[in-house]
Amino acid sequence: MPIDINSDDSLLRSCSAYINGAFITSTDKNLSVLDPATGETLLELPTFGAGEATAAVQAASDALERPVPATERHRWLEAIASAHTKFREQLAEIITLENGKPIAEARGEVDYAAAFYREAAFRISELEPRTLTRTPQSHIWTTHLRPAGVAALITPWNFPLAMLAKKVSGALAAGAPIVVKPAELTPLSAIALFHILDTLGLPKGTANLVFGDAPAIGRVFCEHPAVRVISFTGSTAVGKLLSAQAAPYVKRMALELGGNAPFIVFEDADLENAADQLMKNKFRCAGQTCVCTNRVYIQSSVADRFVELLTRRMQDIKVGPGMDPKTQLGPLIGKAGFSKVHELVSDALNHGAEAVLGRGAPPPPGDGPMFYPPTLLDNVTPDMRCVKEEIFGPVIPLVRFESEEEVVIAANATEYGLAAYLFSADKQRCDRVLSRLRFGHVAVNSGAGPTPEAPFGGMKQSGIGREGGIEGILEFTEQQTVATPL
Ligand code: NAP
Repeated sequence: MPIDINSDDSLLRSCSAYINGAFITSTDKNLSVLDPATGETLLELPTFGAGEATAAVQAASDALERPVPATERHRWLEAIASAHTKFREQLAEIITLENGKPIAEARGEVDYAAAFYREAAFRISELEPRTLTRTPQSHIWTTHLRPAGVAALITPWNFPLAMLAKKVSGALAAGAPIVVKPAELTPLSAIALFHILDTLGLPKGTANLVFGDAPAIGRVFCEHPAVRVISFTGSTAVGKLLSAQAAPYVKRMALELGGNAPFIVFEDADLENAADQLMKNKFRCAGQTCVCTNRVYIQSSVADRFVELLTRRMQDIKVGPGMDPKTQLGPLIGKAGFSKVHELVSDALNHGAEAVLGRGAPPPPGDGPMFYPPTLLDNVTPDMRCVKEEIFGPVIPLVRFESEEEVVIAANATEYGLAAYLFSADKQRCDRVLSRLRFGHVAVNSGAGPTPEAPFGGMKQSGIGREGGIEGILEFTEQQTVATPL
């Protein structure tokens, strides 16, 4: 077994759900967590469903009846951040083993996760009540930020620890008890986090974990009256399903959904910088992040030069298992994702795109290793599937364009609106284009992704609500306005 779960400091000592302050004992083992670099089973886990989800929500609801002062919540958040630092190496290994990303990236994810807890601790003082300076109706008016209720948190597999951190930090800062449901492909990072939480002396029911039958657990979250916020990160399809299921119960939905990020390079841009930034942005987690560039728009006059710059950089990328410190590009998460990438590349090649690097890779038989080669496609046209759909793989499609007007229209021609990247030396042009791009996160002359200090989220069908900054905490609060006579 590649993971040591028996040592005293193992964060996977009890691989189970966590409800009302304890890991549940279960002898059933019907979920195999696989290593995408080998296809081998890392651990066998029990799975849970509606019964455990209901018990978890009830425990959280009971905890809500005993409000915890902000000073104590601040202590928890700082302690969680410190534990991420203390267990950095173990957490990073767990992430790499279950997700496949290179170990250096996994360490970065641990640090990124810790930063969300620190940021939430820093922001907690901003939740103090506010009193109006005026006294309408001869009353004093004070607005309190109360915890909105039980928060159900559903996370995906691409950042198994950091996606949790974004939600858990905001909810705990707000004083909202949580029930967490991680992705079945990567439940180990969540289990590890709950080993950390278990040591912090949180009141019973404050933090709960269930995983297994996602539709059944999701239904409980949508229908149980105590759950007031559903914070979901994942595909737009599942986000829409949850919104529909929760609609009759009038719940707050915080949705971080799919993306289709354009990376726009004008002829006056610093092309070397654009190529460097694209490398960092595109290949993180093997291209499986919601803010990864999905389509590159390159102005025709400099397109051939940009292809050369990218080719030079991409041909040196070292593909391999994430645990090898030399690896720069790990495997894809699983066969379904691999097949989708293969289909999109095949579609592009069949419709006239040229493979400058990588010629499409057939899906592996069975559940073998999931390595996909870095792929550069030139002469891609807007009607190809790799431009219209989320690729989630290490594939760069290049679309050549002539004018500013043409590229703005093309960039916005998607139901998604999560991230975009813009490269030009002309400040006025940047301001003009920025004001028209319908994306919640835009980096200019940079491939930077989100940061814990600033709000992040999508426009259009990429979601509702924000994570990070004070906005990420406010998602889990309700305003209560109190009037008292002068
Ligand atoms: P997914 O299939 O939507 O799964 C996400 C989570 O939803 C998993 O925990 C999954 O559980 C759960 N789920 C699935 N069906 C459910 C149901 N009927 N009820 C309740 N929960 C359900 O997405 P994914 O493939 O894991 O993640 C990739 C997607 O996430 C991409 O589209 C990506 O762009 C998006 N994403 C967005 C952001 C952002 O910040 N906007 C960040 C990261 C990823 P199981 O795993 O147990 O099925």
